[in-house]
Amino acid sequence: MSNLKLCQGTKCHTYHTQDRLKGSKDNKTYQTRRRSNFYYGQGNFCSIRCQDDWFNDFGDQAIDHFGRTTQAKHLTEQNAWYKSYDWNNRTDDRLYVYRNGITKEQRPLTEEQYNDNSYTINTGE
Ligand SMILES: [Zn+2]
Repeated sequence: MSNLKLCQGTKCHTYHTQDRLKGSKDNKTYQTRRRSNFYYGQGNFCSIRCQDDWFNDFGDQAIDHFGRTTQAKHLTEQNAWYKSYDWNNRTDDRLYVYRNGITKEQRPLTEEQYNDNSYTINTGE
């Protein structure tokens, strides 16, 4: 029981589902969901609904705490590279490429570079 996590949704216990209804015959209550793993909000919420409930209650506070974006961020030429691939129709192989979303320039990429999440030619944020 101690390895189970509780859903962090602020209203989770108010949703009338059979799996939330716990307790003995004359002492039943709807309870916050408890599972070994959740799939939403980095494992903190049992459903999108619970994640939304939390955000509606605390989202503004969280954003203010960690820093509200007050100016538009810019993705420049230097940072607009993204990994992609085309199909070689003749051999049915993938042709890995780096494409620049602004200049539309294209550069070859190896499969290893494509699969390496830390490999980038972008500079800066
Ligand atoms: Zn929940």
